[in-house]
Amino acid sequence: MNDIKLALLGSEGAGKSAVLVRFLTKRFIGEYASNTNSLYHKRLSIDGRQLNLEVFDPCSQSEESKCILEEPLDWADGFVVVYTISDRTSFLNAKNILAQIKESRRETCKGEVPICLMGNKQDLCHSRQVSDEEGRSLAQENKCLFQEVSAAENYLEISNLFTKLIRHVMEQLKHR
Ligand code: GDP
Ligand code: MG
Repeated sequence: MNDIKLALLGSEGAGKSAVLVRFLTKRFIGEYASNTNSLYHKRLSIDGRQLNLEVFDPCSQSEESKCILEEPLDWADGFVVVYTISDRTSFLNAKNILAQIKESRRETCKGEVPICLMGNKQDLCHSRQVSDEEGRSLAQENKCLFQEVSAAENYLEISNLFTKLIRHVMEQLKHR
């Protein structure tokens, strides 16, 4: 059985908990605990292999951010970085987070760090502040997966992205 550890990172309110709960339960609840760090466990099977998935969903990474951010950076095998397409600040924060992941992993990881960038709240595209193109090129610069998603309205895209990320992590773990 493979153990796979993922961490969600991104601005408070970007929808980290929402995309994760959507992936794990297929449901969108609307409100999520925001004052605690949560660790989710799930057994799943991908490409016929049994996996033990652990996902770290941190609370706010804003002010007292550093200590919270560094912990998942060391712990996780792969990352989901979430921003909101209707909030440019969250996109700039995602950019910083990607830089921090790269920085902290540069010496320890031989291949690419498995990362997926998610532009969430695509349903709010009437008040969009970040274009799909900007998201895509940030992802290309950082060699990560990318897609705009909506935790509120769509399950399939989120599920496909998580699955791709997990496959990438499984590849990386083989080479350790
Ligand atoms: P977190 O702080 O990053 O974990 O963000 P949450 O998952 O708690 O989401 C913050 C708020 O955004 C909540 O009120 C969610 O209901 C809302 N939200 C999350 N995803 C979406 C989405 O795809 N569309 C819309 N319209 N709202 C969303
Ligand atoms: Mg949350």
